[in-house]
Amino acid sequence: MQSLETITNWALRRGFVFPSSEIYDGFAAVYDMGPLGVELQNAIKRLWWREMVDTRPNIVGLDAQILMHPKVWDASGHTEAFTDPLVDCGACKKRFRADHLYEDATDKNADDMDMEQLGAALKEAGVKCPNCGKDAMGEPRTFNLLVGAEMGVIEGEKETVWLRGETAQGIYVNALRTAEAMRLQPPFGIAQIGKAFRNEITPRNFLFRVREFEQMEMQFFVRDEKMADEQYAFWRERRMQWLREVIGLSEENTRYHEHSPEERAHYATAAEDVQFQFPFGWKELEGIHNRGDWDLSRHSEYSGNKQTFFDQEANEHYIPRIVETSGGVGRLTLAVMSEALDEETLEGGETRLVARFKPAIAPVQVAVLPLSKKDPITEKSMEVFEGLLKGTSLRVQFDETQSIGKRYRRQDEIGTPFCVTIDFDSLEDDAVTVRDRDTMQQERVKIEELAAYLSAKFE
Ligand code: ATP
Repeated sequence: MQSLETITNWALRRGFVFPSSEIYDGFAAVYDMGPLGVELQNAIKRLWWREMVDTRPNIVGLDAQILMHPKVWDASGHTEAFTDPLVDCGACKKRFRADHLYEDATDKNADDMDMEQLGAALKEAGVKCPNCGKDAMGEPRTFNLLVGAEMGVIEGEKETVWLRGETAQGIYVNALRTAEAMRLQPPFGIAQIGKAFRNEITPRNFLFRVREFEQMEMQFFVRDEKMADEQYAFWRERRMQWLREVIGLSEENTRYHEHSPEERAHYATAAEDVQFQFPFGWKELEGIHNRGDWDLSRHSEYSGNKQTFFDQEANEHYIPRIVETSGGVGRLTLAVMSEALDEETLEGGETRLVARFKPAIAPVQVAVLPLSKKDPITEKSMEVFEGLLKGTSLRVQFDETQSIGKRYRRQDEIGTPFCVTIDFDSLEDDAVTVRDRDTMQQERVKIEELAAYLSAKFE
């Protein structure tokens, strides 16, 4: 795997990811998606939607908003417990995540420690400031992760609202309405892709931990514990399968990490992460959680509106249990980029950088490359390009600047699976050369067969 620095530089140079507000020296822990990054992310999101909604009769989509009634976040426990332990350096005043400092220094887990224990553990481990090196770390304390905003038009009467910390709450508060409108009864699921915001204290590792990110979440509502266990077992398998088979993460770089009772939220009966081996180590990519009936119990209590379903057979009202799958779009994009980017040494010692995206998610799927920038080659090439736009559903790019060698390199670097070259022979034989990104083999294909030939490669 390439280093994070190589990946970051490549992503910037090739138009995948840009630091936010870069001309103002950037804005910490926020990144913008460039032209190729947005294509990659859209492809990933579409495949997720297909997997979670389009192909499942009992799962429906939702688009709840970022702004919600502030009480939602009391019910969810975020205003009270959505906190990270922080520690300041008394010398240089820099602020760090206390648990991360401890874990980095000792390779031990800090999840089951309270603030006092963490403070003692940091002292015992002799943790010094990673910035200035001084032995001046203070006591850890908690910090709320919710990002606030002010709403209202009259100064002095503005209300603090929270930018949602997760998309899940929008799903929970719409669960009954959704079920009613769509005539659903548990077991059923609601899926959403949307933005979430967190005041991460020590954002780091590029897209891995940022302050504004997108989540892909599916909440599955079931009648009882037995069904929750079954769904949990199903989704933990299924999510891993999707990440590997559809998105193209390798077995070597993916694994499960089961949460110990101390690690998981107090209400969860089981929780597991799919971890990915990033250039900076094994880290959570997506979580699968069996959340019990906590969420809708809390919303019943805080809203005063019972969030129950009716079981006709048993003749009773009940609060459903929830199994969730929750992953970050940006975090997955970083995993995909880390998995794909490869430096290969060719015969003769030359190296080439190639992004081996699965063809289904490649930002550009076919590049049309005229050998010359003049007619009649240009005219013929435009015909080929338009034929592909009409005859396929692929993302096709027309690329005529620079030498053909440079264009192949560029297309390899952005992970384009196939390049179609139109040369002088094409004018005679109505055929083009199709070059395969991975094997670099070239094949001559008749123009009239090209759309079908290429479409078949993406099935
Ligand atoms: P972590 O322990 O890494 O902070 P978490 O356990 O708080 O993650 P969840 O609240 O379960 O994460 O969020 C679900 C998913 O949302 C994560 O698996 C991750 O993919 C994504 N996610 C969470 N926080 C961030 C962030 N700050 N930046 C990017 N993605 C994030």
